[in-house]
Amino acid sequence: MASNTANPANHLPYFFGNITREDAEEYLMQGGASDGLYLLRQSRNYLGGFALSLAHGRKVHHYTIERELSGSYAIAGGKSHASPAELIKYHSEEADGLICLLRKPFNRPPGIEPKTGPFEDLKENLIREYVKQTWNLQGHALEQAIISQKPQLEKLIATTAHEKMPWFHGRISREESEHRILIGSRNNGKFLIRERDRNGSYALCLLNDGKVLHYRIDRDKTGKLSIPDGKRFDTLWQLVEHYSYKPDGLLRVLTTPCPQLGSENDNFGFNAHPSPSGTLPKLQSTIGHPLEEAPFNPYVLQRKRGPTEEERGDQREALPMDTEVYESPYADPDEIKPKNVTLDRKLLTLEEGELGSGNFGTVKKGFYRMKKGAKPVAVKILKNESNDPAIKDELLREANVMQQLDNPYIVRMIGICEAEAWMLVMEMAELGPLNRFLQKNRHVTEKNITELVHQVSMGMKYLEENNFVHRDLAARNVLLVTQHYAKISDFGLSKALSADENYYKAQSHGKWPVKWYAPECMNFYKFSSKSDVWSFGVLMWEAFSYGQKPYKGMKGGEVAQMIERGERMERPEVCPTEVYSLMKLCWTYNVDDRPGFVAVELRLRNYYYDISH
Ligand code: ADP
Ligand code: MG
Repeated sequence: MASNTANPANHLPYFFGNITREDAEEYLMQGGASDGLYLLRQSRNYLGGFALSLAHGRKVHHYTIERELSGSYAIAGGKSHASPAELIKYHSEEADGLICLLRKPFNRPPGIEPKTGPFEDLKENLIREYVKQTWNLQGHALEQAIISQKPQLEKLIATTAHEKMPWFHGRISREESEHRILIGSRNNGKFLIRERDRNGSYALCLLNDGKVLHYRIDRDKTGKLSIPDGKRFDTLWQLVEHYSYKPDGLLRVLTTPCPQLGSENDNFGFNAHPSPSGTLPKLQSTIGHPLEEAPFNPYVLQRKRGPTEEERGDQREALPMDTEVYESPYADPDEIKPKNVTLDRKLLTLEEGELGSGNFGTVKKGFYRMKKGAKPVAVKILKNESNDPAIKDELLREANVMQQLDNPYIVRMIGICEAEAWMLVMEMAELGPLNRFLQKNRHVTEKNITELVHQVSMGMKYLEENNFVHRDLAARNVLLVTQHYAKISDFGLSKALSADENYYKAQSHGKWPVKWYAPECMNFYKFSSKSDVWSFGVLMWEAFSYGQKPYKGMKGGEVAQMIERGERMERPEVCPTEVYSLMKLCWTYNVDDRPGFVAVELRLRNYYYDISH
């Protein structure tokens, strides 16, 4: 599976990926090992780090390049650089601690691609399985969760994945660990890891000639794990991978993980090795089936339920998947969608007070009784006194569009209800419109805003794919479920495109949000996903301006003239240059030259992943 996180070294011809130190030495020897010949490879102990292998005096020297918290790269204790490539460039002019200058890159032979490490590949699988099982998601909902939350998920996996490893036995005593290792097969290198205390220190217990050795694994101030005087690692499973490939100070390499007897040994799908049934009585399963220990694979996961709220504690913020509105209530097989999505008034209760209002009427909070309990809803209620049938038709058209959409980043309709008034019942997005939220919350970080606008781009990509045009995309119509979960709303002007046309042609100029409209909307009344992209650019501008009004103090006509002159809004004060250049791309005058949401989403995704490390 292709990783979406771009490796900042993948494009370098002298980058070999996840090869071992020995492989690197062999390559450089093959290349003649002249002084200053070098190659770059992935670090096997630091997430996102690299290693530089450099030949000098017929020997190969290795330097670790750490990825720093700020996202820059440095050889331990050395100068920071924006990318591995820049670090290499620097050291080809300045030895600055290296044994000699980097003189000549050793490039990959033709046909050889950078090697993806088991970590990279399996990380993808781990994330997928983790999401599948923790939130019970499948298909589209699963993909969207992974794409939108990858940085958060990677962090979760890195800190908790060991809990699902067969070799991790949790908080057991030293005596118990010896007992467990000595049961069953006694092959050298059999091992387990136990937790010593809650501060993140562990012990590695290793069988050597019938005796169990215990190595402490301590966590230093920066959170790195190591055996005293040993190499340091970000995660336990990288440590296990390292010591299962070379002893590096231990008495021997790790071979077989000591199985957790009696535990449900029901592995995730990508385990190639069948595992013993967890239902066998403890002793019988060891004595009777000594060969059932699976060959060592540090990545075999064991099924475990996802974190409960209590386990999570306050350690992390709710992810979109933790909320009630990530999936449609009708995704639940017990919940039957009513015919024509017309709801029973008796199941709906409305609260006092308004969430919002317009000339159509008001939006109120309410609860709709469903199989699994009362669901908080937002209800758009038509004014009764208005006997204008056009307003009712408008609401029904809006309902008709919403009914066809089902995406985590779009407000879903629960149904429509005709009672004392016409009512459109929707999922609740408690924190309200994005522009107002940001006006009131100036502390929200750039990264947080990027996360939110990226989610909006995912919802828009879905609309584009399904041939709907929104036509009123603006920060006021993005509603927040949490500070980290945005949904697109207000489909009052939206249209489904016909199969033969990729745009909608309006008959006449209406009450339009012209400051959000692309030139072709104003000049030719033509609306497409590309014109939604233009609006999305304005939406990003609003978001990074913390909810300020675009084109402040200008009239619609003046804005149009400004655009025709080729001028665009300036970069908001806190807006990263990468995002501003994307905004300007969204404001490409010519429709055909303007990117679609597929490209916009990918740009934002990569930028978001980049700043999330
Ligand atoms: P209008 O066509 O008048 O802009 P909207 O659909 O945008 O109507 O809704 C108006 C206001 O009602 C929104 O700005 C928001 O404050 C509130 N609102 C609408 N839908 C929801 C919802 N699903 N959850 C929470 N608040 C909502
Ligand atoms: Mg609105």
